[in-house]
Amino acid sequence: MDSEKQSSARGTAGVSFAARLSFDNISHSYASGVQTLRDVSLHAEPGEVLCLLGPSGSGKTTLLRIAAGIEAQRSGQVFLNEREIAGPSIFLPPEKRSIGLVFQDFALFPHLTILDNVRFGLTALSGDEGRHEAMIALERVGLERYARAYPHVLSGGEQQRVALARALAPRPAVLLMDEPFSGLDSRLKDTVRAETLAILRQSRATAVVVTHDAEEAMRMGDRIALLRDGRLVQVGTAQELYNRPADLFVAGFFSEINEFPARVRAGGVETPVGRFSANGLEDGAAASVAVRLSGFQVDQKGGAVPARIVSRRFLGVVEFLELAIPGAEQHVRARVRCGQLEPGVRDIWLNVVATDVLVFARQSFETSSESA
Ligand code: ADP
Ligand code: MG
Repeated sequence: MDSEKQSSARGTAGVSFAARLSFDNISHSYASGVQTLRDVSLHAEPGEVLCLLGPSGSGKTTLLRIAAGIEAQRSGQVFLNEREIAGPSIFLPPEKRSIGLVFQDFALFPHLTILDNVRFGLTALSGDEGRHEAMIALERVGLERYARAYPHVLSGGEQQRVALARALAPRPAVLLMDEPFSGLDSRLKDTVRAETLAILRQSRATAVVVTHDAEEAMRMGDRIALLRDGRLVQVGTAQELYNRPADLFVAGFFSEINEFPARVRAGGVETPVGRFSANGLEDGAAASVAVRLSGFQVDQKGGAVPARIVSRRFLGVVEFLELAIPGAEQHVRARVRCGQLEPGVRDIWLNVVATDVLVFARQSFETSSESA
């Protein structure tokens, strides 16, 4: 790590030498015996922001803890570039890994100044050198004026930036962030997220950011890795996961969907909202047809599918409709642009947008498409 340091001239200082972080066939269980990770293979490219996405309990934090060296996997290996940092024959302690970690709750020490909080990870450096490096890290996040203040005078967003400065101060090759924005109120979140992304880009560290929010993953990640019950379900860009979800779970995680069970006949699936291509599934196969809530066009005069409005809620840009449709066991939900339907109208017509229909082989584990 020391050998990787640049001379710390202002402006250019604080740049990390990004590394590739790889997980190879990681399995893990806690002492309770329940398996938390199952054969996870995944990597983050140098300088990439990889978002680790999944519902609560899917194993995201555990995977970060394994990378950081706070937790040991039961089997599999972790590599930083070509170097094995955790595996059957080696286990580097956290301080030897060149991996920084930002916790969910920031975890600043309330009795230490901001500068001393940031210096905390720089124990290997002398007092002066440590202070100098910590100031550079604080400048990077734009908070040098608070160096002598204590955490409680800072807003949540500023505290989050201090935590980021502390993690970046030792110039880690990889930065891990566990739900870094979950403690911030929603108006602050957008700004802090954008700032954090800019700082990550500037520092050039490889970053793994954990979130349970698909939109946050799409906003931040160069790529997204989706976990479910300790298994990696799909890895790819936001477009790949949104447009070509591997299964119904992925589809439901990235957009709200209506789900229709169907059986494949003559290359197609018949649903109450229309017949669609079976997407290569064999005749006779059980299928699940997902139609995004945004996939309906509404018309008062005519269209492919008749529908009766059961409820209607104004949401600003869009309105949310619950619709009774002949043949559908449950109400069909739709989000349509406001102003397309007159007030009080009851009977309407729908047309379905083909790109908002996704057809999957039905799997036994499928229940509802709950997200996060
Ligand atoms: P996530 O971060 O995606 O919410 P975690 O990695 O925290 O998921 O947890 C994965 C699973 O492991 C959960 O079922 C959780 O209850 C369990 N778990 C987490 N931490 C511990 C622990 N220290 N001891 C035992 N079980 C744990
Ligand atoms: Mg977690």
